[in-house]
Amino acid sequence: MQTQSFTTYLNGDFVSSDEAKISPLDRGFVLGDGVYEVLPVINGNIIHLTEHLQRLNASLSAIRMAPPHSEAEWIQILEALVKKNGGGNQWMYLQVTRGFDLIRSHEFPKEVRPTVFAISYPKVLDSKDTLRQGIKVMPVPDIRWKYCNIKTTARLAYVLMYQSAKEAGFNEGIIINNGVALEGCSSNIFLVREGILLTPPKSPAILPGITRDSILKLAKAEGIPYRETEILETDLYQADELWITSAIRGIFPVIEIAGRPVGTGKAGPLWERMWDIYMKSLGLQL
Ligand code: PMP
Repeated sequence: MQTQSFTTYLNGDFVSSDEAKISPLDRGFVLGDGVYEVLPVINGNIIHLTEHLQRLNASLSAIRMAPPHSEAEWIQILEALVKKNGGGNQWMYLQVTRGFDLIRSHEFPKEVRPTVFAISYPKVLDSKDTLRQGIKVMPVPDIRWKYCNIKTTARLAYVLMYQSAKEAGFNEGIIINNGVALEGCSSNIFLVREGILLTPPKSPAILPGITRDSILKLAKAEGIPYRETEILETDLYQADELWITSAIRGIFPVIEIAGRPVGTGKAGPLWERMWDIYMKSLGLQL
């Protein structure tokens, strides 16, 4: 039995998660025909909201849907949602699908009424000491389609790749295609080699991470040398440091890949520095 509920936003109304209902004929449910965003909320503020909304609109445009709301409308809706769920630190999810269609068909409906849904939950932020303990990752073969830059709700490939890493005892899978390391199952990757920060360039093979962009901007501002360049699976094993990044997890040091230590097997000095820079950019001291 569900004992807890949160406030959700569904198609213009704020409703309890117990009461929020959509049709099983929603194209998000039957076809995975929708896009989404996940955003952190810290001290009641939605982090990088403009950037997330820009990426949402890019995903919508890529699946040939019009934005259901202007930026000003989104801000009003999402800030109200954060307040209704008690402010503080939260995890926010929002999704837009191509809506209800009585006859299940691949063809777009004649008239699209999108389903717009958002929810936020309280979240405890990890301290730097906790993060420093690091995570273990495993390479996983790429089983995705060709438009991985679109943040679609059709997540089955990521679910299967992640589950295989999880069941093998790892915290994240690093997606490998033809010997090239692309990203994590729900994160981007950064590698440090001889003091230079490396990350794969934007392409349809990776999600353009908001945290990734933020780190590159901060590296530039701080004079930390960086390059957007192809990373091979073999490079992962020779890295001085390896990080995974996502809006929710921030920057995680990877201490082990497929049973082998990364660098010294401990969170590295550039991670220590970048974490502080990143937290400072969010106005935080954790
Ligand atoms: N790649 C994938 C496949 C993801 O699911 C995520 C998480 N959204 C990321 C990268 C990281 O993106 P962001 O920094 O915007 O959370």
